[in-house]
Amino acid sequence: MKPDLFQAPDYYLLDDLLTEEHKLVRDAARAWVKKEVSPIIEDYAQRAEFPTQIVKGLGEIGGFGPYIPVEYGGAGLDQISYGLIMQEIERGDSGVRSTSSVQSSLVMYPIWKYGNEEQRMKYLPKLATGEMIGCFGLTEPDFGSNPGGMVTNFKDKGDHYLLNGAKMWISNAPFADIAVVWAKDERGRIHGLIVERGMEGFTTPETHNKWSLRASATGELIFDNVKVPKENLLPNKSGLGAPLGCLDSARYGIAWGAIGAAMDCYDTALRYSKERIQFDKPIGAFQLQQKKLAEMITEITKAQLLTWRLGVLRNEGKATSAQISMAKRNNVDMALTIARDARQMLGGMGITGEYSIMRHMMNLESVVTYEGTHDIHLLITGMDVTGFPAFK
Ligand SMILES: Cc1cc2nc3c(=O)[nH]c(=O)nc-3n(C[C@H](O)[C@H](O)[C@H](O)COP(=O)(O)OP(=O)(O)OC[C@H]3O[C@@H](n4cnc5c(N)ncnc54)[C@H](O)[C@@H]3O)c2cc1C
Repeated sequence: MKPDLFQAPDYYLLDDLLTEEHKLVRDAARAWVKKEVSPIIEDYAQRAEFPTQIVKGLGEIGGFGPYIPVEYGGAGLDQISYGLIMQEIERGDSGVRSTSSVQSSLVMYPIWKYGNEEQRMKYLPKLATGEMIGCFGLTEPDFGSNPGGMVTNFKDKGDHYLLNGAKMWISNAPFADIAVVWAKDERGRIHGLIVERGMEGFTTPETHNKWSLRASATGELIFDNVKVPKENLLPNKSGLGAPLGCLDSARYGIAWGAIGAAMDCYDTALRYSKERIQFDKPIGAFQLQQKKLAEMITEITKAQLLTWRLGVLRNEGKATSAQISMAKRNNVDMALTIARDARQMLGGMGITGEYSIMRHMMNLESVVTYEGTHDIHLLITGMDVTGFPAFK
């Protein structure tokens, strides 16, 4: 793979809106990605392997629980810093950002928000350093966009719960130490349970042959009469709103992360367009290529503004789930379009692992589907503005 020469576009001088802390956090993550992710990621993606050696570093740059309070081992940062970290990590690879998002928003967040003090103290500090890795089990073979229909369930057996069912498409599952699993009780109400690797009847087979997010491990969670200690139930929130609250946090991070992938594709294509000569001119001197680049930087700038504003709203506790849906949907679609155009601009070279573009493009095919598909987020916006749910 080519050396990482990335230079971040900032067409509307958005750095002026950031605090010194935001810039420090962002620059540290950017430097870490250049040093630790860029040189190895293509190789790991080609081999369909997650680079476990970067886990400690991810913890050090605040990639695990950036907004979790410091007393639980988190970085205690605000939502803009969280977003900037996701942007930088996904600039390196969406699969690495997925590991970071899952750990932060889908494992640490529910333990912090819905767990009790013992659970927080037991799990959060180890999750923050990466000493412990978690995964989040919501999706099932027959319930993806409609998770409320889940059939995974647990029964109260007096001194423990008995868990049965299966989850699929679970990021980090093959190597996770714990899983936050969403399951129905005997009354059909959804609760979160912390299931630990090693519990009898709990297995995590890996999902192979992915063309996308190849540097992220994906798997199933199978529960065959798993005895879960009662103290592993998250006591402070139940119902579908509990997992959806986690998804709000993760989707917000994805909205920023997608900008990172788009920036990397744009930057690569821009540099290539100045170097590649055809018909005695750099291809960047042709109008058709300039149109692509001009549209890319316009869309990136719009996405940056949208996401920055959303971060301010989240810091103020005012961001709605529907606003987050809009940003996730818009920014991932924007990044995917940019990746496809950037790929074309590199001609044949665009399909090789010499450049990051094709990997971003393939990764984004998962990002546009997980955490609510492109269509589902559109329906959320549609419902928000009309008041009519069009899901059924
Ligand atoms: C790589 C990867 C990692 C993932 N990681 C996790 C994870 O860590 N944890 C987890 O719980 N899940 C995870 N997922 C699952 C992901 O969230 C689901 O794939 C996603 O929610 C979509 O569900 P589905 O694949 O079952 O598609 P379906 O729900 O079957 O949807 C198929 C198509 O139908 C459309 N559709 C569905 N309902 C409607 C409707 N009402 N109106 C119009 N169109 C509709 C969808 O938009 C989609 O285009 C992951 C997925 C992938 C690919």
